[in-house]
Amino acid sequence: MTEFSWRTRRDALERIEHEIFDLLIIGGGITGAGIALDAAARGLRTLLVEKRDFAAGTSSRTTKLIHGGLRYLEQFDFGLVREALVERAILTRTAPHLTEPWPFVIPIYADARRNYDHPLKMRAGLILYDLLSMGHGFERHRRLSREEALSLAPQLDPRGLKGAFLYYDGRTNDSRLVVEAIKAAHEQGAQIVNHASVRGFLKERGKDGRDRLAGARLRDEATGREIEAHARVVVNATGVWMEETIRFNEQVGALPRSVRPAKGIHLTIAAERLPVRSAWLIPSLTGHRFYFVVPWQGRVNIGTTDTDYQGDKDAPAANEAEVTEILNAINSYFPDARLEPADVITTWAGLRPLITDPRARNTSEVSRKEELIETPDGLISISGGKLTTYRQMAEHTVDLAARRLRERFDVSSPHSRTRETGLSGAGLARKAFADTAEQLSRSEHLPIETARHLIETYGSNHPQLVELLREDERLRRPLIEGLPHLAAEIVYAARCEMALTLTDALMRRTRLAMLAGEAARNAARPIAELMARELEWSPEETARQLAVFEEEYRREYQPH
Ligand code: FAD
Repeated sequence: MTEFSWRTRRDALERIEHEIFDLLIIGGGITGAGIALDAAARGLRTLLVEKRDFAAGTSSRTTKLIHGGLRYLEQFDFGLVREALVERAILTRTAPHLTEPWPFVIPIYADARRNYDHPLKMRAGLILYDLLSMGHGFERHRRLSREEALSLAPQLDPRGLKGAFLYYDGRTNDSRLVVEAIKAAHEQGAQIVNHASVRGFLKERGKDGRDRLAGARLRDEATGREIEAHARVVVNATGVWMEETIRFNEQVGALPRSVRPAKGIHLTIAAERLPVRSAWLIPSLTGHRFYFVVPWQGRVNIGTTDTDYQGDKDAPAANEAEVTEILNAINSYFPDARLEPADVITTWAGLRPLITDPRARNTSEVSRKEELIETPDGLISISGGKLTTYRQMAEHTVDLAARRLRERFDVSSPHSRTRETGLSGAGLARKAFADTAEQLSRSEHLPIETARHLIETYGSNHPQLVELLREDERLRRPLIEGLPHLAAEIVYAARCEMALTLTDALMRRTRLAMLAGEAARNAARPIAELMARELEWSPEETARQLAVFEEEYRREYQPH
């Protein structure tokens, strides 16, 4: 079992005090995680610090798709779509357990007002999508008859339905994608610390007489201790916090571009309330956009919106008007579902770190392309982009950092290796999942759904969970009725995935808070007790963890 726990974190904090790193990465979302993996795989001495938990920002609040982005074809962003489709194909190899090819369906109605676009235009877009992804292993799109469409969604409004288009994209588990990239970076030698924020920079006068960043001042959020981390190059991967991070150096003047946060919300409902056998693209009733309806882990996720956001970046949330708007659209296309606010298990919101384009009228027109900004103090900032394209963003960022290391410190490093470097758990091909799950179910006497869940969630790391089950019978206990998650997963999160708080375990290692809502709150105490054993919490600390989880749950998963 590869330990990656609070002890690993404590050791990393100790090393920080004695070591000079080649690269310090600020931010443990998908962008920072990808950069840490790329840099460590090139042999660079790498440190990543995250102020809350891995993926606590935008990277746990996405639609959870590994996709080219059909919608971006409308903006003629062919390059962006092509890049994303190439990355989609790479991810099927480097993270097979986190990239599941999945059918997406767009209904076609006789009444043009019920269609997202003219069917001919949609077909042209899908042909282009097929061409751009040619040779990358995903099936091509096809036209479905009315009956075929209804067989994939019995509640779909049959009145005036002419048929549908079906195409393929990927489903993922966003926060676990981040955690598996973080674990892979650690396996490649990176030092990683969550719950530690950067509060300011260290500076040094360069040979050219200019002040350059030489590291950062950190605060260990678990103890309040201040630490200095020394590094030759500092990378800012803080997403919507990009500008605040740049401005830790008060001397930096005006910036060429800035971040424009755009909020997107989602709802999670029970699968029985909207039984769909594929993902669906359902037009919004209020503008030219669609909502994804995606079956996900025994639930259905629906979203997303796209609105300018000026509130607290640490606490974006859905509001009731947004929830009503989504429910109205879904009820209009699935009238028999009759969804009501009471059907919503949880709501959640994320902020897109879009880079400002002064010409765009609204945020949906701002390009999703990433932007690298290098300020005169040597800070390299990267923001924008997508979950899907994180690997390529990381490669570009580390290429620039490696160039600076060579020029200024004579440190050389090889090219990126991440096209072939698997994330943690990548050692089992998707085509072997079904057989492996059956064997696991038989050999360990587990229900088949539990075995499937373990394989799909942990990929080739699943034997580490089996080891826990064999070690302690009590860890075979399901955590929440109706869901396949086992107590062993909480222990694994603490021992092997640096879950430091109850919230980390319930929100981002497992997704129980989002999937189960109230039921997760009710199950929180025994789960906290499992964590307490692993992390040596006192009864007072366990009570504090429960109170913090309650507060964070309300902030993140309830509309306000
Ligand atoms: P974040 O995940 O926000 O990470 C930044 C991190 O920096 C945070 O964890 C934060 O805590 C940390 N940080 C900030 N300040 C400091 C500091 N001072 N010290 C230390 N750490 C700090 N993309 C797709 O490919 N597929 C999708 O389906 C998809 N759906 C989306 C849906 C929505 C609603 C949204 C908003 C985005 C979606 N995206 C999708 C885009 C994708 O989610 C983002 O591009 C990506 O998650 C951004 O990751 P990031 O690491 O740059 O930012």
